[in-house]
Amino acid sequence: MGMLTEFLWSMMVFLLAVRIMGTVLKLLTNKMRIQDNKIEAKPVEKASEEKEEKVLEIEMVQDMICGAHVPKHKAYQVVRDNVTHYFCSWECRQKFILSVRDESE
Ligand SMILES: [Zn+2]
Repeated sequence: MGMLTEFLWSMMVFLLAVRIMGTVLKLLTNKMRIQDNKIEAKPVEKASEEKEEKVLEIEMVQDMICGAHVPKHKAYQVVRDNVTHYFCSWECRQKFILSVRDESE
């Protein structure tokens, strides 16, 4: 009789432990879900991350005045005869404009 009671007690303890584990797991997964939502609730940060990725893939253009390679979005531009020319600096852009002016005169 003693052994049976011990067995029943251990079974009850085991079942209780399983229930507690289940509750803890549920709480943990809920917490994780909340954290996921928090991350998704920050569209500004996500957008900036995407922007950085795009910067890494960005097209490089060559400055025809000094030969420097510049990311397209940072380059100074001049459109001449429907062709866009890119420059590393305002100075290079000015040099190009002046050289073009000399040519046409
Ligand atoms: Zn330049």
